[in-house]
Amino acid sequence: MPLSQGRKILAIPGPSVIPDRVLNAMHRASPNIYEGEIVSEVEGMIPDLRAVARTEHEVAIYICNGHGAWEASLRNVVKPGDRILAIQTGRFGTNWGVLASQMGVDVQKLDFGMQSPADANKLEEVLRADTEGKIKAVTTVQVDTATSVKNDVAELKNAIVAAGHDALFMVDCIASLGCDRYEMDAWGADVTVAACQKGLMTPPGLGFVYFNDKAKSFRKHAVPGQYWDWVPRAEPEIFYQYFGGTPPVSHLYGLREALDMLVHEEGIENVWSRHEALAGAYWAALDAWGSKGSMKHNIADRAFRTVAVSTIETAEDDAQKIRDWCEKEAGVTLGIGIGFGTPSSAEARRRFRIGHMGHNNIPMMMGVAGAIDAAMKALGIEHGEGALEAASRALAASVNRNA
Ligand SMILES: *Cc1c(COP(=O)(O)O)cnc(C)c1O
Repeated sequence: MPLSQGRKILAIPGPSVIPDRVLNAMHRASPNIYEGEIVSEVEGMIPDLRAVARTEHEVAIYICNGHGAWEASLRNVVKPGDRILAIQTGRFGTNWGVLASQMGVDVQKLDFGMQSPADANKLEEVLRADTEGKIKAVTTVQVDTATSVKNDVAELKNAIVAAGHDALFMVDCIASLGCDRYEMDAWGADVTVAACQKGLMTPPGLGFVYFNDKAKSFRKHAVPGQYWDWVPRAEPEIFYQYFGGTPPVSHLYGLREALDMLVHEEGIENVWSRHEALAGAYWAALDAWGSKGSMKHNIADRAFRTVAVSTIETAEDDAQKIRDWCEKEAGVTLGIGIGFGTPSSAEARRRFRIGHMGHNNIPMMMGVAGAIDAAMKALGIEHGEGALEAASRALAASVNRNA
């Protein structure tokens, strides 16, 4: 007898749960796109988009997913034949590099495997060895959504400065914006790439590229093409009116509502703290489960974990069994293991991910943890007891701490 009726919970790392308020805001007829409300609404979003990334610099909005934003960012700063250094800490930094190679960019890789953050000393060493200054840009993810590792963006920037290198520093925050603390200007990122469907709680379809003055100076040497050019997109008179074509009106209404919730109602500092508290509760549950049997977090050191998603390793294909059980019996969808071999490989089947990015609260977190706990009991998978008790205690402690 499945117990999966009732509201389903999507606990995958993007698209994330879209708040009803955002969905309702999108449920409107298209407006006059040439003047009036929509124009001023887009203008009003720019300061809020700056606030979530902690920057004073420019942001271009594209109608695309994260892959489009990756391409947009590269097209404005490099051209075929230029070299970039792609930091890899899982799957996404790797794939950004693959996309660059397909544009004819010469991609030098710096790989840190599937269980560790990037090592800033190693980055400094590689940049020091580039005595001719061939490397035009360093790309990294803040958070890799496959491994759930979080890189120390400020430390990586310090390594570029310490090496005395001129490379542009480009950071993918697609998984982490609106989840993990991010300070574009204070930490020295020149370009930040993001999308709307993870921490920003809006259906997939909007990509964002933030760029500072140094990045703007690189634009002169690139040939972005009409659609990807960030110059007109950052010019209010040109762009707010034409959007490089028809504006994505419904998405803009949704994003407006989501930014109200994040920036004006909850406040970005509180958004980050809420993510920390909910992720911390999952990790407390995981520590309890893992006290017997094989379950463990892919990233051993909590300091290097993102609060947006957790990648969990199990024995053999227990991960797949847990996911299937949660889907069929509990109405909870968990994320598949990605980046560790092909989707059907043994390495993938032993991993699952819990997306805890965006619109989440205690009942959602406890509901997902409860479903996983019941799954292991029903399936006879060995695990430590007391996970929900541990999660509850962790939640109570963070609420008290933040009171
Ligand atoms: C989701 C994600 C992407 C890709 O975004 P799409 O919208 O799926 O194209 C890139 N980088 C990171 C870190 C992501 O989490």
